[in-house]
Amino acid sequence: MNEMPNCIGCGTIIQTDDSKAPGYAPASSLEKESIICQRCFRLKNYNELQPVALTDDDFLRILNGLGQQNGLIVKIVDIFDFNGSWLPGLHRFVGNNPVLLIANKADLLPKSVKKQKVVNWLKQEAKKLGLKPIDVMLVSAHKGMGMQEAMAAIDEYRRGQDVYVVGCTNVGKSTFINRIIKQATGEKEVITTSYFPGTTLDMIEIPLEDGKAIFDTPGIINHHQMAHYLDPSELKYIMPKKEIKPKVFQLNEGQTLFVGALARFDFIQGARAAFTVHIANDLQIHRTKLEKADDLYETHRGELLAPPSEKYIDQLPELVRFEFSIKEAKTDIVFSGLGWITVQNANVVIAAYAPKGVEVQIRPSLI
Ligand code: GDP
Repeated sequence: MNEMPNCIGCGTIIQTDDSKAPGYAPASSLEKESIICQRCFRLKNYNELQPVALTDDDFLRILNGLGQQNGLIVKIVDIFDFNGSWLPGLHRFVGNNPVLLIANKADLLPKSVKKQKVVNWLKQEAKKLGLKPIDVMLVSAHKGMGMQEAMAAIDEYRRGQDVYVVGCTNVGKSTFINRIIKQATGEKEVITTSYFPGTTLDMIEIPLEDGKAIFDTPGIINHHQMAHYLDPSELKYIMPKKEIKPKVFQLNEGQTLFVGALARFDFIQGARAAFTVHIANDLQIHRTKLEKADDLYETHRGELLAPPSEKYIDQLPELVRFEFSIKEAKTDIVFSGLGWITVQNANVVIAAYAPKGVEVQIRPSLI
């Protein structure tokens, strides 16, 4: 086989197989004299960033590298996938650098949700995981909500130093950076790429007025994200583009809800009660009797219970059961990467199921 050329932009070896991996260029471009990878092409021509995938070793190298820099770390998480978008160990690596936590996709929150409650919940969860952010902000990179405030906060907290934006894939980091690029540079072509210290990974460098820069570090893959259990063609079902419309179910003890084949919710014990489902509008909720639920899942996952559809159902890990005895009214059962179900009544016992690796947690309602 001929040796593959390097990208004239970032120097990565060109490959033509995996459009999501670094160095991808369409096979037809190999005939050209100087080849540029798709990512550099888009960056150069549209000032637009494309996400690339990373290995776990790269992930560790990035975390290590961050500890050696001085500057503000901006960590982006997905409000709907807090656990799935957490970077474990980040707090150990960042040393004394302040971390600003930015929670993205706020546009999906139903109007009834109180923003301050979301912020408080995020602070608490971060603390539980060992991180004490300097501040927590909600944004919608997609809609532009909260972006000016986020930019102002970044400028304040960086105290004249560089900024490193980190996050795992699917949280909307590229969308966020693209917004910053447009705001910070207008249409000028001033964006460059440089290698992340100690790695061969390139990162985007957005210059700031005082000679410092905002660096976009490569997106990190978190294997336990719900998003990785679905085929890209089916991601649209769990990643809504529009505000979530809560759906209320009045259930009797002994009833079960299935969320496609991705999650299950059993009402085990308690008086008739209301449960409000906050999950992407396009996901089908199927109600059945608890006694029939195992059988139904066994025989109908991938068909009646989808996504994933039949073609992809075998890639989905088994569902794992978590039981909760709920004493307080208005308690959320949070399925990381999917959304949550609010238990409206007190004194009920429920069980929640999610694919192995995906977290299920409870929290006081955000409403
Ligand atoms: P990255 O992998 O972190 O770089 O994420 P992307 O920027 O590629 O975004 C991942 C997915 O989330 C895409 O489908 C985006 O359209 C979507 N997304 C990004 N930001 C937002 C947001 O603020 N709101 C909503 N609803 N979707 C978003």
